[in-house]
Amino acid sequence: MMTPIGIQVRAYGLLAAIFSVALAITGCAQSDPVPQVSEVVVTETVDGVEPLVNRVLTEEEQNALEPGTVLTLLQEGNQRFMAGNLTARDHTEQVRDAAMGQFPKAVILSCLDSRIPVEDVFDRGIGDIFVARVAGNFANIDILGSMEFGCKVSGAKLVLVLGHEGCGAIAGAIDGVELGNITPMLANIKPAMAYFGDYSGEKTSANKVYMDMVTEQNVVCTIEYIRKNSPILKTMETEGQIAIVGGVYDMHTGKVRFLK
Ligand SMILES: [Zn+2]
Repeated sequence: MMTPIGIQVRAYGLLAAIFSVALAITGCAQSDPVPQVSEVVVTETVDGVEPLVNRVLTEEEQNALEPGTVLTLLQEGNQRFMAGNLTARDHTEQVRDAAMGQFPKAVILSCLDSRIPVEDVFDRGIGDIFVARVAGNFANIDILGSMEFGCKVSGAKLVLVLGHEGCGAIAGAIDGVELGNITPMLANIKPAMAYFGDYSGEKTSANKVYMDMVTEQNVVCTIEYIRKNSPILKTMETEGQIAIVGGVYDMHTGKVRFLK
C-alpha cells in the first residue's frame, strides 16, 4: 500500500522548523546560521493516516481503517505520550480543517478525572477521537447513544472504555459515599463490586489491591453493558466493523494497559 509522505515536526523542533522555512523563503539560508535540519523530521507515515501536522482525518482515510489498526494507533500514541514525544499540532489550522466535518477514529469513554488528558494520552488531535466522560466511566443510555452516533453514524472503528488507577468514583462506591446525585451515580459501580462478593480481603478504598480489582472489573462490566444494551454496537462488533476494548490508565507512568 502506498503511503503518503508526511512532515512531522516535533515540539522541540517547531521553532527551528519555522526558522528554516523563513530562511528558505528569503533565500539567505547559506550565509546565516541554520538550525539543525535533523530537527525537522520528514517521515514516510507508517500506516498512511498517522497524524500529520495540520491534518484532520478525511472520510476516505477513516473508511480505510480497520479496528485493529486504530487500536495500534492508540497504543503507539500512548507510547509517545509516555516518552514525552507528543506530535506538534497547529490547532488553529486543525480547527479550520475540522469545521468541514468530522471522521474520528475511535470513541473513548473515560472517567471525569482531570489528571487524564485523553487526547494527549493517545497523542490525538482535533477531529481524531470522540471522548465521552463520566465519573467512573460507566455506560448508560445516553453514553450508548453517543457511542452509537460515533460508530454507526460517524464511522469510528473502535470503542475504548478507559478506567484508571486511583479512581475517586471507584473509591467512593467502595466506601459507600452518599451525597446528593453522587449517590445514584456511584450505584453504577456496584456490579463491579458485586463481582468480588467472595473476596476475603479488606473491602475499603485503602486496600489498593481491591481498588485495582474493582477498577479493572468496572471496565469489563461497562463493556458487557455496552454489548448487552446496544444491539447496534454488538452487531457492528460481531461483523468486524468495530472493536470494543478496555484499558486502565496508570497515574504514575501514563501507560494505558489494554485488557485482554
Ligand atoms: Zn476516576
